[in-house]
Formats: sequence, C-alpha cells, structure tokens
Amino acid sequence: MSELSSCEVLPGPAIRCLICDAVSFHPTDISEKYCSRCSSFHETMTTALQSLAMSVRLISPQMPNAEILRLFKTLLVLIGEANRRTMKGHGIQRS
Ligand SMILES: [Zn+2]
Repeated sequence: MSELSSCEVLPGPAIRCLICDAVSFHPTDISEKYCSRCSSFHETMTTALQSLAMSVRLISPQMPNAEILRLFKTLLVLIGEANRRTMKGHGIQRS
C-alpha cells in the first residue's frame, strides 16, 4: 500500500491538496508544499494523516487510504466547527 500523503505533485508543475482539492501553480507552494486554502503545510497535515492511519489500522487493518483520507477530512471539518464555537464563546463580537 502506498504512503498516505495530503498532497500530490502534478505535471505543470502544480500541487494538489488532497484535503481541500485546491490546485496551486505557485512555485513557493510547490517547493514548500503549502496549501493556502488550508493555511497549512503538507508536512504537518501528512504527519497527522499518517498518525490517524496508524490508529485506524489497529482496529481495521484493511481500511483503504481513500477511506482514511475521507475520515481525516471529516475530522478537520469538526475541529474547524469546534474552533469557531470556541471563538464565539470568547465573545469576539461582544459589545
Ligand atoms: Zn488544502
């Protein structure tokens, strides 16, 4: 099974984020493996993704990469929503 990664480098050259599907042709995004839509480096996202894969495969060793990627995206959405709620809780708009 191939290594899980949060991005793929395309001919172009370009880089596609497998988390949000953004494609960037920016040379710095490609050389630094950065996604501006996720505001994250792929090194960080790939490490988190592989760590999730290790945990998941303890329970379900045959889980395909695509399913683990889908699970990872779902977790990111949930974390994003939790963060937004926390920000609201701290009353940024409080008058
Ligand atoms: Zn992205």
